Amino acid sequence: MPGFELFSDLERKEVNDVLDNGVLMRYGFDGMRKGHWKAKELEAELRSTFQSDYVQLVSSGTAAVSIALASAGVGAGDEVIMPTFTFVASFEAIMMLGAIPVLVDIDDTLTLDPKAVEEAITAKTKAVMVVQMCGSMANMDALRTVCDKHNLIFVEDACQAIGGSFKGKPLGSIADLGCFSFDFVKTITCGEGGAVVTNNKDYYTNADHYSDHGHDHVGNDRGAETHPFLGYNFRISELNAAVGLAQVRRLPEFISIQKRNYTIIREALSHIPEITFRTVPDGGEESYAFLNFFLPDLESARKVSKAFKDNGIDACFHYYDNNWHYIRKWDHLTNLKSLYPISKEVKEGLQYLQTKSFEQSDHYIGRNISCLIKLSWTEEEVKTRANKMAQIIETIN
Ligand SMILES: *Cc1c(COP(=O)(O)O)cnc(C)c1O
Repeated sequence: MPGFELFSDLERKEVNDVLDNGVLMRYGFDGMRKGHWKAKELEAELRSTFQSDYVQLVSSGTAAVSIALASAGVGAGDEVIMPTFTFVASFEAIMMLGAIPVLVDIDDTLTLDPKAVEEAITAKTKAVMVVQMCGSMANMDALRTVCDKHNLIFVEDACQAIGGSFKGKPLGSIADLGCFSFDFVKTITCGEGGAVVTNNKDYYTNADHYSDHGHDHVGNDRGAETHPFLGYNFRISELNAAVGLAQVRRLPEFISIQKRNYTIIREALSHIPEITFRTVPDGGEESYAFLNFFLPDLESARKVSKAFKDNGIDACFHYYDNNWHYIRKWDHLTNLKSLYPISKEVKEGLQYLQTKSFEQSDHYIGRNISCLIKLSWTEEEVKTRANKMAQIIETIN
């Protein structure tokens, strides 16, 4: 997945443009910048990459999720439905707004089960956030139907699925609002950065203002700006945007390398009868950032995970036993460890985590191994790796 593996003169040139004129800020300083507007140029590139009318760059993917929800009016006491398998950023971004994360089961797509979503809807539900984990996607048609039926805002976290698509549309552009991360380990990186993507002009205008103290960005050089509403600082810097600008132009190259490497490993594992692969909904095309497969049970997944590590197969994750991505180890959420007081409403809203079990999620995550697909591997290296992985799994099963 990580674009940083292939930094080149292209990234250096864009960064040097910024250093040459010295304007590291994305807004204002019109006279000094010698025509360089890296964040604006990157937004234009992303509008075409994601086939979306509006893109707002921000400081991170976590910020993008909070801003997307805020832009659609999600706030104090609102419930946002999200999956049990995601990055911790998902509930952080919801709770930052005083809203309540409602975790529900995943299915064999490794993200939101539309049935579990519908069962979790209450009078307080305001939004559904799907997280397109590990380069693939949920059943987007079914989720859209549920959201429309219950009049809910549909948000898509595509931080890990840059370059994937569903029925010809880029992941991140399908729901009402999409969120991307360009942190250091994502398929394209800015070092730190993120984006909110939408076709809704009001949401976009809100995101634009909210991510820069509520400034309305009217006129040149910031002189005449007013503050229609409160905001914060979630700006991206020109230096970060410059790196992303070079990277996004290389996205097709990165995706084709991922696809080649993914395919070699998948083919080597396909003939092992104990292995099945995650379900990709009809019409879906993965970004090939990860290869996800299931073993028959939790014990064999644990054994394979350990044997991979012992034999130098790095970058393969058994999320069931890792604490970044799965509910089972999110003690800081279930037991609410916060530096500052959390509202009574949110505390009560999270009570369900004391008793709710997620057996269906355990059933999939317990048996899943997720292997990161690197860009820097040569074809020979991938083949050697793929054969070694197949051998290890066959020895264990
Ligand atoms: C990386 C990631 C984020 C957060 O992005 P940052 O830019 O690191 O804040 C959110 N959601 C998912 C699924 C991610 O993988």
